[in-house]
Amino acid sequence: KILNPAARSQVTQDLSENIILTTVDDLHNWARLSSLWPLLYGTACCFIEFAALIGSRFDFDRFGLVPRSSPRQADLIITAGTITMKMAPALVRLYEEMPEPKYVIAMGACTITGGMFSSDSTTAVRGVDKLIPVDVYIPGCPPRPEAIFDAIVKLRKKVANESIQERGTVRSQINRYYSTTH
Ligand code: SF4
Repeated sequence: KILNPAARSQVTQDLSENIILTTVDDLHNWARLSSLWPLLYGTACCFIEFAALIGSRFDFDRFGLVPRSSPRQADLIITAGTITMKMAPALVRLYEEMPEPKYVIAMGACTITGGMFSSDSTTAVRGVDKLIPVDVYIPGCPPRPEAIFDAIVKLRKKVANESIQERGTVRSQINRYYSTTH
């Protein structure tokens, strides 16, 4: 039966008040960006600033971030500190053990460029992105906890714009990255 205009208007109003329209991508991304779980990973002084985030003063749980001790339960790694040549294989292995989709934030001068070890050290990796793909960089020595929050917000924006359909493309990009850097 065809509704009269008044009834149709009422139905339209009821629908707009009670139904939220979204896409599978939006719903999926909202769930992921609201529950990024970082691996507890720190190799030097930058980790002190990262550890401060876990306390009540900065309270990063409000972003849905729950630190994990196992890479199998984490989808984010914040490389906080110097990466030495000896640590490099362990870092790559930790990254590979994290399930997809996964993200990397490079924190601090040492991890981004080698920092104060960049000119004459033979033991520091001069750029963690030579080992694993980096999504967001945080410059500084050390970066403050607020800068880490800024990186988290940037990463959440990136996650919000991803598509499930592109996931295969992202995976193949990472595979290409590995085939050219390892
Ligand atoms: Fe330490 Fe500075 Fe290097 Fe961070 S960037 S690990 S604070 S020396």
